[in-house]
Amino acid sequence: MQKKMYFCTKFISYLLFTKMAERKVRVRFAPSPTGPLHIGGVRTALYNYLFAHQHNGELVFRIEDTDSHRFVQGAEEYIIESFKWLGIKFDEGVSFGGQHGPYRQSERREIYKEYVQQLLDNGKAYIAFDTPEELDQKRNKTPNFQYDSHTRMQMRNSLTMDRSEWKQRIEDGEQYVVRFKVEPGQEIHIHDLIRGEVTVKSDIIDDKVLYKSSDELPTYHLANIVDDHLMEITHVIRGEEWLPSAPLHVLLYHAFGWDDTMPQFAHLPLLLKPEGKGKLSKRDGDRLGFPVFPLEWHDPKTGEVCSGYRESGYFPEAVVNFLALLGWHPGTDQEIFSLRELVNLFDITKCSKSGARFDYQKGIWFNHEYILRKSDDEIAHLFAPIVANNGIDETMERITLVVHMMKDRVNFVKELWELCSFFFIAPIEYDEKTVRKRWKEDSAQVMGELADVLENIEDFSIEEQEKTVLAWVAEKGYKLGDVMNAFRLALVGIGKGPGMFDISAFLGKVETIKRLRRAIEILK
Ligand code: GLU
Repeated sequence: MQKKMYFCTKFISYLLFTKMAERKVRVRFAPSPTGPLHIGGVRTALYNYLFAHQHNGELVFRIEDTDSHRFVQGAEEYIIESFKWLGIKFDEGVSFGGQHGPYRQSERREIYKEYVQQLLDNGKAYIAFDTPEELDQKRNKTPNFQYDSHTRMQMRNSLTMDRSEWKQRIEDGEQYVVRFKVEPGQEIHIHDLIRGEVTVKSDIIDDKVLYKSSDELPTYHLANIVDDHLMEITHVIRGEEWLPSAPLHVLLYHAFGWDDTMPQFAHLPLLLKPEGKGKLSKRDGDRLGFPVFPLEWHDPKTGEVCSGYRESGYFPEAVVNFLALLGWHPGTDQEIFSLRELVNLFDITKCSKSGARFDYQKGIWFNHEYILRKSDDEIAHLFAPIVANNGIDETMERITLVVHMMKDRVNFVKELWELCSFFFIAPIEYDEKTVRKRWKEDSAQVMGELADVLENIEDFSIEEQEKTVLAWVAEKGYKLGDVMNAFRLALVGIGKGPGMFDISAFLGKVETIKRLRRAIEILK
């Protein structure tokens, strides 16, 4: 008998396992359009993307807009544009289409009503008429009041009223909510791919509101579960802030009898302030000067403008790379990863449980690394409009040359102009401090001689100039450092820049000598 039982359970678990194994991996990113997408949300979507792709699965984009009070105009479009910029593609969802739509929850009212009714019919939920004022009163009277198995029988609901009475109230148009009837004394098990087995007692969960007659819409919890089920979601990967909702979600799956298609959970670690303590907020970005949103956001109500990674000059690949390593690491020294490599290496079970410090300086470092890795050509194409905007008409070839000399010195393309403008515009003034330090008594005379020497060079290449100038310096017994410092000041206007002959070769003979003579004239 025991043996038979054993085989029986084995067989059932085999069936369950194969059923699960057969299911195609489907994950979702389900933001609420309540404002611009926070950078933490971007990381959540990215991890969903990586997980979906490494399992040949699908990523769904769902808009959870059942809370009409928190709806913000333009937020949905903003979110879609953000992912477009980042190169994170969805397989189905709002604006992408698919077989499981509509994907906007506000368009699924009728669907939810059906499922709310199912819970009511099965005695898993009940109707409650308590007004907000009544609930407030109760809370004021009873500290830590919770609407649950201990208190529900003192309240005004379909459990404490005759059927005819509550039916009549609904007919008379009285507003009501539907509450989930949480049975006490149960142990709820959540299997979290990052946190392991989490066990919660059902007693701590209140009879959550699932539906409100006032707007004929379900609350987040019900809509979320029904949609995850109907959209055949196999894994719920989301921020840690949703972990407290998970036990209720598990109970809802039980209540509907959907146990065998319950998704696996993975609650991602929080993003922490750069200092390491506390949740990362927009204020941290304002305080320390870094964006916390992917794109610039113009608040439609306040007119406030919040900076974005795109407008701040980050490459989307750098942002993706940076975010991918906030909460997960492949365990090697490698830090630069393409999206493809991330897909191959990512392991959700290796995500950290504790929060990830948002080291925005590291984000800047990543951008610098991506500048170095991109071709001079590509950077030049980004730099060219900036050059043109400064009123300079230059060929792509020469802009590329400047980029080649200077790109390793910047973190952002936009920083190139300040550093490189001297290539295109002759200095009109000379940095005072550098003049005091570098322009010596005899500099005017030596620079005059240098101009003559350069005048006689046929081939104005870096190599030829170097050869001729060094020979002249040696012959005259000048100090090479003094000559070069004065030469730099004359051509650049400050004491910085790449190799001197790189600069003069770029400027060409005529311009180089012109700049030398002007410096002599002004500095004497
Ligand atoms: N609508 C929720 C949000 O704004 C989704 C939470 C979840 O993924 O279950 O993040």
